[in-house]
Amino acid sequence: MTQQDSPTAEETLPRPVVAVVGRPNVGKSTLVNRILGRREAVVQDVPGVTRDRVSYDAEWSGRDFVLVDTGGWASDATGMAARIAEQAELAISTADVVLLVVDATVGTTDEDEAVVRVLRRSNKPVVLAANKVDDARGEIEAATMWNLGLGEPFPVSAIHGRGSGDLLDALIAVLPDRPSSEPQPGGPRRVAIVGKPNVGKSSLLNRLARTDRSVVSDISGTTVDPVDELVTVGRTVYQFIDTAGLRKRVKEASGHEYYASLRTQSAIERAEVCVVIIDASEPVSDQDLRILTMVREAGRAMVVAYNKWDLTDEERRYYLEREVDRDVQAFAWAPRVNISALSGRNVDRLGKAIETALEGWETRISTGKLNAFLGRLTAAHPHPVRSGKQPRILFGTQAHNCPPTFALFTSGIMDQGYVRFIERRLREDFGFTGTPVQVEIRPRE
Ligand code: GDP
Ligand code: GDP
Repeated sequence: MTQQDSPTAEETLPRPVVAVVGRPNVGKSTLVNRILGRREAVVQDVPGVTRDRVSYDAEWSGRDFVLVDTGGWASDATGMAARIAEQAELAISTADVVLLVVDATVGTTDEDEAVVRVLRRSNKPVVLAANKVDDARGEIEAATMWNLGLGEPFPVSAIHGRGSGDLLDALIAVLPDRPSSEPQPGGPRRVAIVGKPNVGKSSLLNRLARTDRSVVSDISGTTVDPVDELVTVGRTVYQFIDTAGLRKRVKEASGHEYYASLRTQSAIERAEVCVVIIDASEPVSDQDLRILTMVREAGRAMVVAYNKWDLTDEERRYYLEREVDRDVQAFAWAPRVNISALSGRNVDRLGKAIETALEGWETRISTGKLNAFLGRLTAAHPHPVRSGKQPRILFGTQAHNCPPTFALFTSGIMDQGYVRFIERRLREDFGFTGTPVQVEIRPRE
C-alpha cells in the first residue's frame, strides 16, 4: 500500500486522552458526567462496583478528547495507597493529560499525596480539580490545595457545575496537539494483543519478540510509547500496543478485572489491528465474545487466534468447531489461526493474517464500482414493499475506509435485515477480510 492510499488524518487521528484520577468518593464520576453534560457515567455510591464502560467522547470549545474514568476500581481498606498509586500509574501509561480530583471539603490526605508522588514521576501534564466547592466559602479550602505542589487548584462543584468552565479551559490549554498514540507517518502499524486473562497473551508476545530482536533495534529514528514494543513478525516490524501491561503482571491485584477491561479498551482504541486470543482448550465464553464485540464496535481490523492448540484433542476440536459456528459466526470475516504460543505452532502465520486484515481494513471501492454493484443487487433482490411503498437505494458511496464505511442514500427507511443482506453481499463481492464493514442509511424524503 502506498502512502497516498492512506486514510486521511481526520479519519484515523486518535484524540488526546484525559484520565480522571483520585481516591474514591471525591466526585470523579460526578465530574465526568458534568463534563459530558449528561448522566452517562453511572455514579455509584456502592464501592467496589465494576463498571464496564470506562472511556467517553468529550468536547470543549471545539476540542475533542477522550475522558477515561478510573473510578470503577474496587476499593477496600487494605493497601489503599498502593492501589491508588497503581491506578495513577495506569492512568499515566494510557493518558496524555491527567485530571486529578481532590475533595476540598476534606483537605489533602495521604492517599492524595500518594497519587501526586506517582504523577510527579511522569512528565504528563496534570490539572488539579478541588471538588465539592459548592459556594464561594469553599474557595479558601480549595486554595490550601496549592500545597500538593501541582500548581493552581481549580475550585469546582461537580454537582452544581460551579467553576467547571474554568477547569475545562485549563484542561484544553494543556492538551497536546498530537496525542502520544498518534501514528507516525510511515511508522510501524499498531497491533494490540487482546483477550481475557490467561489465554496466553504474554506467552504469544514473548514468542514473537524472541524471533529477531536485532532487526528491531536497527530501526533508527523510531520512537514508541514506553508501554509499547517494536516486534518483527515475518518481515514486518509492528508496534505492539501496551506490552508493558502484558509484561507487568497486574493480574494478582484485586479489582484486576477492571484494570484488564480498561487496558483492553485503551489498547483497542490505540491499535489499527487487534489479535484476539481465545483459549481453544476451553469453551468459548461470554467474555471472549465481549472482546470480539469491542473490537468490532471500535471499527478495528481483527485476527482471531485460537491458542493452546497443543492442549486440544479430537473431541475438544469437534466441540470447538460447533462453538465457533454457533457463537463466533458474526465474526467469521476475521482471519483465523490455530496456534500454540507454547510450542510455536502456526505462530509464523500470524504475520500474514495481520497483513490481510489491514488490507481489508484499508480497502476503497470506487463510487462507480459500488453503484454498479448496488444496481445489480437491487435489480435481483429489491427491498420488500412496506405499506405500499418500496424503499429504493438512490446512490451509494464509500464515505471512508479504516474501516470501510458506506453511505447509502435511499428513498425511505430500509429494514435492518436488508441492510445486513447488503453488507453480506458487499463482503461476497469485495472481500473485506478482517475488517468490520459499516453501512449507513441516509433516507431522502
Ligand atoms: P468517585 O468515587 O470519585 O467517582 O465519586 P462520585 O462521583 O461517585 O461522588 C461521591 C459522592 O460525592 C457522591 O455522593 C456525590 O454526590 C458527591 N459529590 C460529587 N461531587 C460533588 C460536589 O461537587 N459537591 C458535593 N457537595 N458533593 C459532591
Ligand atoms: P495472559 O494472561 O493472556 O497473558 O496468559 P499467559 O501468557 O500468562 O498464559 C497463561 C498460562 O497459559 C500460562 O501458564 C502459560 O504457560 C499457558 N499457555 C500460554 N500459551 C499456551 C499454549 O499455547 N499451550 C499451553 N499448553 N499453555 C499455554
